[in-house]
Parts: sequence; C-alpha cells; structure tokens
Amino acid sequence: MWDAEVDIAIAGAGGCGLVAALTVAEKGLQVAVFEKTDFVLGNTAASAGMIPAAGTRYQREIGIQETPEEMAEDILKKNHQESNPDLTLALSKVSGPLVEWMNDKLDMQFSLVTEFKYPGHRNLRMHAPPTRSGLELMKKLKQAVNDKDNIYLMLKSQVEKLILGDKGEVIGIDVQTTDGVQRIKAKKVILATNGFGGNTSMVKKFIPEISDALYFGYEANTGEGIEMALEIGADVSNMTAYQGHAAVNEATGLLVTWGTIMSGGFMVNQNGERFGNEAQGYSEFALEVVKQEVQNGYIIIDQDIYQNLLSIEDFKQLDEMDAFKSSDSIEDLAVKLGINVKSLKQTYTAFQKNEQGSSDQFGRTDFPKQLTGKLFGIKVSPALFHTQGGLNINEHAQVVNGQGNVIENLYAGGGTAVGVSGRHAYGYMSGNGLLAALGFGKIAGDHAVHMIQQKGME
Ligand SMILES: Cc1cc2nc3c(=O)[nH]c(=O)nc-3n(C[C@H](O)[C@H](O)[C@H](O)COP(=O)(O)OP(=O)(O)OC[C@H]3O[C@@H](n4cnc5c(N)ncnc54)[C@H](O)[C@@H]3O)c2cc1C
Repeated sequence: MWDAEVDIAIAGAGGCGLVAALTVAEKGLQVAVFEKTDFVLGNTAASAGMIPAAGTRYQREIGIQETPEEMAEDILKKNHQESNPDLTLALSKVSGPLVEWMNDKLDMQFSLVTEFKYPGHRNLRMHAPPTRSGLELMKKLKQAVNDKDNIYLMLKSQVEKLILGDKGEVIGIDVQTTDGVQRIKAKKVILATNGFGGNTSMVKKFIPEISDALYFGYEANTGEGIEMALEIGADVSNMTAYQGHAAVNEATGLLVTWGTIMSGGFMVNQNGERFGNEAQGYSEFALEVVKQEVQNGYIIIDQDIYQNLLSIEDFKQLDEMDAFKSSDSIEDLAVKLGINVKSLKQTYTAFQKNEQGSSDQFGRTDFPKQLTGKLFGIKVSPALFHTQGGLNINEHAQVVNGQGNVIENLYAGGGTAVGVSGRHAYGYMSGNGLLAALGFGKIAGDHAVHMIQQKGME
C-alpha cells in the first residue's frame, strides 16, 4: 500500500520546512521534504532574511538586554492584542536559541542589523546574514540539507492529501510526483507550504482590501496546506491577516527597504502630498497607498540615508540599476520623478520643520534627522507579500481541530499556520513572517522528534 516510509514527512521546502528538516535530522531520524516546484526558494528566498530574536549574544555584545516577554509584548502591542499570547510567547522564547543555533550549526554568519530599527521594535532585534537577503539564508539552509544523508529532498513533488488512520490520526501523505501519485507513510507530518497569497480566489474571499494590489510573494503558495488540513477537521483563525508592503519598485522588481522611512525619509503621492504616518509600519501603509487616486507613492530620502542603506543587498541592486532619481534641489527632483513640483516643495519644507518626538499632523513622531545635501527619490507600489492567518496550532505547533483538540501527528508552521500578526494589515510587525516560519519549524521539528522518541521508549 505504501511507496515509501520515513519518520517525518514535510510538505514545502521553504524556510519553515528546511529548518524543521534540519532539526529532525540533527537528532538522527529520517526525514523527507516534498517541494512542489523545481526550486528551493519560497518566500523565504524573496525576503530580506531578517529574523527578530530576543536575548541573543549579538544583542548583549552591544549592551542590549532583552527578554522574550518584552519581545512578545511588542508583537502584541503592534497587533492590538489580536494574536494568541501563548503562541506569541512561544515564538519569542525560541527566537534567541533559534538564531544562535542557525548561526553555529548552519554557518549563517549572522549579525545584528544596526542600520535602523523597525516600527514597533523597542530594541535592535533583527539578525541577518551578511547580504541581508533571504536568498543567502536559503542557500545556506539548502547546503546544510544537502550535507545530511538522512534528509531526502524531493522536488516537483506536490503534497496533495493527508492520509488518516483508524483513530483519525495522520499516518501519511499522498504526493503528486512526475511518476504519479506516491503514498508516503510517516510517523509525523509537518505542513510548511506557506499561506494563500498566490491563490487569487482565496485572497479575494478572505482579504478583499488587498486583492487588487500586486502579489509579491512566491506564486506556488496557493493555500494547499491549509485546505488539506481543513479537509480532515482542522480549523483556521485570523484569515484576514497579512503582510502588505507599501514600497515595491515595479520597474526593477525590487523591494525598497522601509529603512528609507525609518532613517528619516517620507512618502508622497503623485500630487506631491504626504498622506499618513509612514512610521506606523509598511504593512498598513500599503493600504494608504491603495487609497490614493493614482496607486503609487514616491519615497524621498537624502544622501546620508542612501549611503547608509547600501549594506542591504536589495538596496545595493537598486543603486546598481540607477533606480533612484537624484538632485541637489527638491524642485528638480520633483520634475525627474514626474510629480507636482510646487506641492512637493511645500511638503518638503513642512517636513523639514518636524522635530524628533513631536507629532506631525498624521501622528508621526519619528524624525531621526533633517534631510541634507543631495536628495533621492523613487516610485513605489503597494503589494501583498504573504498571508498571516491559517491553521490553528498549539505552542508545540501541533494542529488542533475545531474543538481545540490535537490532530495526532500533524504539525504546521510558517504561513500555513496562524501567525502572530493579529487580524489586520496593521498587526504585522517586521520579522513576524520569518519568526513564525523558522520558529515554528524549529518547534515542530523538536516536538515531533520528542514524541517519536518517547513512543519508542514505551
Ligand atoms: C519580498 C518579501 C520580503 C520579506 N522580508 C521578510 C523579512 O525580512 N523578515 C521576515 O520575517 N519576513 C519577511 N517576509 C516574509 C517571509 O518571507 C515569509 O513569512 C516566510 O518566508 C514564510 O516561510 P514559509 O517557509 O512559511 O514559506 P515559503 O518560504 O514560501 O515556503 C513554502 C514552500 O512550500 C512550497 N509548497 C506550496 N504548496 C506546496 C505543496 N502542496 N506541496 C509541496 N510544496 C508546496 C512552495 O513552493 C514553497 O517552496 C518577506 C516576504 C516577502 C515576499
């Protein structure tokens, strides 16, 4: 009846799936990862590779003492207390050990991102590989997977169905491969297929407010993990949650880091007017851009900010492609950007009068510097990056059913599971995506191994 048997089967070879696989393999169990596409990329490779973590040695080295409780408090404050506090704390607790484990065991060469602080982070908390890119993160994860002979990575293998035993427990999966459907027996199954950002009808159904915006995530993330689990009695929460982003440069297909704003820049519309508190966060600001008559924004920064951000890979590429327009005068910059000259000049003059800590007309209080010297501007579009609602899980990443009971042998993490971003665009705090992907990947892997080993001793 079975085509193959492993200890643990994982659906999806993104960040969540590979961290789970490496966690399991480290303990000596056999694990198979099934990836639908030809590639090991996922959203994780598209990300900026920045992982939030509390209490790390990188923070301590520069005098930051931070507890997981403080990190959880920040996440809950950003999402207006809309995420499950137990899951939020569980992820905050695993974050420090996760980052240090990835660095020490997987050769990540992490450092603390000190270039700027993201909205809602009380301390510098982002940890990233040297290029600050998810591609580098995924390359290192894939290398580590290739080095393990107890991990089987199968590409062009789409997980289609969960197979149940007599008591309703998960005992395996059906996988569509180039050789037809394979039935894989597994003691535990981990769903790491991300969310439903690539499924237009699901986005229209659950998050209509962002359904007209560009989808900037991995096309293959079409909600199958969620649907498969729903078929066997799982339940979902917070399906309206997502990470939007207000600043994709469509001409180059690159993300313009929100470090531009957090370092002291601002955004205007086609008329040269500001239209909100940019420093609240890039996710909710995507909706503000969607509301503009012409659904574009223009980020304005100065030479210092520009130079400082060149350490970020995407930004370096924007520089290499001359994606920013620049000028010594705001009027000339407006002409080059094709926006209203008089109005941008007025906006710029008013913006320069703001002082750090005092609120402007939109409630923004972060004005870390006056813009000086040469000015730079770039056209940006709003986008949906990934969805943040999904399967209900407990703090061990075990999937639970509508009654709150564990569905035996089934785990979920990353975009497949309910995250910690509440129910709205404003709930996304920078780093929540990779935190839920890598954090629940680690938690699921550890718990699945523990349960298998415990059963072996009975
Ligand atoms: C441009 C961009 C920048 C971002 N920057 C950051 C950042 O700096 N920090 C941060 O925390 N978050 C960031 N995020 C969010 C973050 O990338 C995601 O939250 C995270 O990568 C999700 O990881 P995952 O493992 O759940 O999914 P993914 O990495 O997307 O992996 C899912 C995998 O599952 C596969 N799959 C799907 N269906 C099936 C199936 N049925 N069978 C088998 N395989 C399947 C897919 O092909 C894919 O390879 C960013 C997102 C984007 C788009």
